Amino acid sequence: AKNCGKNNAKMYSSSLTMQIMSHVQLEVGLRKALQNQELYLLYQPQIDVSSATIVSVEALVRWRHPERGIISPTEFIPLAEETGLIVPIGEWVLRTACQQARQWQISDDRPLRIAVNLSAKQFKDENLSQIVLSALQDSGMPAELLELELTEGTLMDDARATMQTLERLRAIGVYLAIDDFGTGYSSMSYLKRFNVSALKIDRSFITGLPQDSENAAITRAIIAMAHGLKLNVVAEGVETNEQLRMLEQCGCDMVQGYYLGHPSPPENIALMLAQRPVL
Ligand code: C2E
Ligand code: CA
Ligand code: CA
Ligand code: CA
Repeated sequence: AKNCGKNNAKMYSSSLTMQIMSHVQLEVGLRKALQNQELYLLYQPQIDVSSATIVSVEALVRWRHPERGIISPTEFIPLAEETGLIVPIGEWVLRTACQQARQWQISDDRPLRIAVNLSAKQFKDENLSQIVLSALQDSGMPAELLELELTEGTLMDDARATMQTLERLRAIGVYLAIDDFGTGYSSMSYLKRFNVSALKIDRSFITGLPQDSENAAITRAIIAMAHGLKLNVVAEGVETNEQLRMLEQCGCDMVQGYYLGHPSPPENIALMLAQRPVL
């Protein structure tokens, strides 16, 4: 009963914060976040199962709000999308991540991909390919080491424009991955049409492995299908050794999750890169 009261108090205060800090105030704050340098990136490793090495690192944005503390992207990315602020924020993420990756590359010459999440709004922006090219040029990162993560929702919107944008990105030579695979309205035919390099199995299917027989069946099916199409498969949200073992048995190419490494500041990634192999 004591715990319950504590939880209620916490919920009450957070909903009160939400009321005081209205949508508009948060938006005003987000507009200034970029110029006030309140945004920063954490990086999470993606590990290649067969070589037990870090092959890619995903950039995940955070907002250090002057009053509210650290705000999760699940809270402010939707607002950034609604207001269009995702376009400048996304460009900052892309440039910062490429520059950081270039630093890692200089201190350790193994090829390491940097993965950046792209929202649907960014994907629809006419200048996307110019922004990507410019971020690559300014950082000195080779195109094939930039991984762009797109969701099924982004790809299913307005198929013709989508094809054109994808073709432009492919012409640049970036590595394209479908994020949260299996959660959107996926039609298998688009996997053939959209020439991507990898699928990331959504965390919701990895949860409960290996005991959950439905998730196990889905995971096996996604891996088999991806390999049939010559795509790499990444499992996200790997939290236990049992999950890792099962994914390894199923032939999953790469794994990402708290068991392998939390989203971390760049210094920690540099340490992880120096310590090999990681599994
Ligand atoms: P996502 O792209 O699916 O990223 C994976 C999320 O799962 C991250 O949450 C990560 O911290 C979390 N995660 C990683 N491993 C585990 C695990 O083992 N267990 C659990 N429970 N969670 C794990 P995060 O950083 O809060 O980001 C949430 C979402 O916000 C991302 O989901 C992505 O959709 C979006 N996001 C983050 N950064 C950016 C960005 O720079 N641009 C855009 N457009 N979206 C972003
Ligand atoms: Ca992602
Ligand atoms: Ca994901
Ligand atoms: Ca997600």
